[in-house]
Amino acid sequence: MDFDSFVEGSFLWIVFLTFIAVITVRLAFFFAAIIRSGKERDVKWWYNFAIFGRFFLPFHKAVSGKPFYTILRYIFHICLVVVPVWFMGHIALWEESRFEWTWSSLPDEWIDWMTLLVIGLAAYFLVRRIILKDLRLNSSVTDYCVIVITALPFLTGYFLTHATLDSIAFFSSNMWNIHILSGGAMILMAAFLFCRTRMNTRKCTGCAACEISCPTGTIESRDEAKQRIFTYSHYQCICCGACVNTCPEQAAELRHEISLIRFFQIISRYEIRSVELAVCERCGELFAPVPQMDKIGQTFTHDYLRFCPRCRMVNIGDLLHQLSPWHNKLHKIDYSQ
Ligand code: SF4
Ligand code: SF4
Repeated sequence: MDFDSFVEGSFLWIVFLTFIAVITVRLAFFFAAIIRSGKERDVKWWYNFAIFGRFFLPFHKAVSGKPFYTILRYIFHICLVVVPVWFMGHIALWEESRFEWTWSSLPDEWIDWMTLLVIGLAAYFLVRRIILKDLRLNSSVTDYCVIVITALPFLTGYFLTHATLDSIAFFSSNMWNIHILSGGAMILMAAFLFCRTRMNTRKCTGCAACEISCPTGTIESRDEAKQRIFTYSHYQCICCGACVNTCPEQAAELRHEISLIRFFQIISRYEIRSVELAVCERCGELFAPVPQMDKIGQTFTHDYLRFCPRCRMVNIGDLLHQLSPWHNKLHKIDYSQ
């Protein structure tokens, strides 16, 4: 078998079958994980399926936070699916395959415009990550690779259908293979692509607002031995960005992760952050994370930091008692004068 027939034969089948198998496993364990976590949080059964819908529809908090960017992201993802599925050339390949499947295609001009949209938006996302300082500091190499690998099959597809680079001998004879290989790389990447929420240790106060806002129970926390420990389960994350949008300290960050290992860690939940808890000076109860109290201490009194809510009430009671006439009578103060 020569290289050309391997690429358009065995390679493509391996890619498609791997994608279908991986996505099936991921969906099964995604639902298993969110149904388990939903039971623990006592949510209704249909909520788990509504969450899955939220993965596809832009009706959530991210829209109000960054409406322009969110709309562009949805346009990008819609085109990512529509172009390869409804392009006439791809449908013709399925028709010629052993399955002989066929369906209606979209007009070539539509496909051309959508392809250009994907390429243009990918370039915009890339430049945005490089130019915006905060975004650049929060980006990993994988974040850049994801954009490039996603855009490559669209770019090579456009070059192939328009013979753009045919004046260069290498591309005129190899563009077909380059397009299939880049498409295969994108499909495999999509299968093993996970989101990873990171809590910036310099900014995070351990307030747990991200945990409360997370619709899938991906982020969980527990207080244990003077520590608040945050854990994360990558199979549950739908990359909705609610944690990022909710975090009052801009400490929650979403990263991409392409990982074969993560795929096999089907039921894993691992620690992503631990924060020391403050101890009440009166009763010894653990009542809030130390970084959060430090932050509050910039605004509130010292008393607020040293005592838990219950003992603060007791302190107020003590204070009122000291100010009361009965207390003063006991101390022989004459109010009649
Ligand atoms: S909401 Fe932000 S500050 Fe609060 S625990 Fe989560 S990451 Fe940390
Ligand atoms: S992006 Fe954040 S809020 Fe959304 S599912 Fe993932 S961890 Fe939860």
